[in-house]
Amino acid sequence: MGNCFAPISPDSADSEDEPPSAAAAGPGRSTGRTSERQPRPSSSSARNPSQDRNRSHPSRRQSTSKRIRKHSRSSSLFSMGGPSLDALRNYATLSHPQSSLSPSKLLISNKTTLAIFDNYPKAKYHFLILPRYPFPPQSNPDSKNSILPLNALDDLKSLLLCDDREAREEVMRALYNTALEVEEMIKDEMLKTEGYEWKVDMGFHAIPSMKHIHLHVISDDRISPSLKTKKHHNSFRPDLGFFIPIMEVQRWLDDDSNIQERVAALSDAERLLNTPLTCHKCDEFITNIPKLKNHLEKHFVDERASALRYIARHGTQRSSDEDMF
Ligand SMILES: [Zn+2]
Ligand SMILES: [Zn+2]
Repeated sequence: MGNCFAPISPDSADSEDEPPSAAAAGPGRSTGRTSERQPRPSSSSARNPSQDRNRSHPSRRQSTSKRIRKHSRSSSLFSMGGPSLDALRNYATLSHPQSSLSPSKLLISNKTTLAIFDNYPKAKYHFLILPRYPFPPQSNPDSKNSILPLNALDDLKSLLLCDDREAREEVMRALYNTALEVEEMIKDEMLKTEGYEWKVDMGFHAIPSMKHIHLHVISDDRISPSLKTKKHHNSFRPDLGFFIPIMEVQRWLDDDSNIQERVAALSDAERLLNTPLTCHKCDEFITNIPKLKNHLEKHFVDERASALRYIARHGTQRSSDEDMF
């Protein structure tokens, strides 16, 4: 969701009822992909957030790109009602999201997670990954049982405080795996529309505005008409503390001896949104949002030119995981 700190105003809320902006997923065109992807067959196939950041799936990219473009085209066909604190929870508890949610809302789903379009995208690409409820055990994905109670999925805090370590690890892993799949779709679309890939961030808001834990997957350009305030921008800065990268959450879970302090710090994160406006790429002080927008556009143009020059010389783009731009 766009911003997790102001649930009421349509401008700033995470509400999921606004038709996705054209900025949500790049230019729309094209054909569709299929329905639910296959559940991961065993624990051995599940990736841990601390591993495997450099994979590449050319074949998957092919199909996912078509999917993303289809979604960006078919906007505003469906709505679950007005802005609501419970909108995400409503999606997460659907037993048949594929048939209940329009393609303009739902990007992909599997037995344990959903990926939906953020209605107020704060970048060219912006999606939310939600754990479904009931959340079935990995060993039996068709089970109607949930490995953890619904209130453990309220937000990041409640999941961190869940005393079933296995369960919270499983949820985090499922979110991460779906986020990686979405990232592949985004990068494929980047290649098709701009000729190169750029960075994608994955993280949670310390203080969400809507009930039900969700992982933001957002491209780091931060170019979008819905990015309108300093708080919007600060809420997605990966270096500020309000937006918590999933890798960091994974480190918290790996060594959970400080979990109570972590949770306390999350509750105190609201003040971080008042941090003076600076560029998240070069740290330059920026006096207002129109200037920020111009500044970010310039970054984008420069990065693209540099990437395309590199590709022209070398025939390929280095992995975005190396953060060359
Ligand atoms: Zn959010
Ligand atoms: Zn800058």
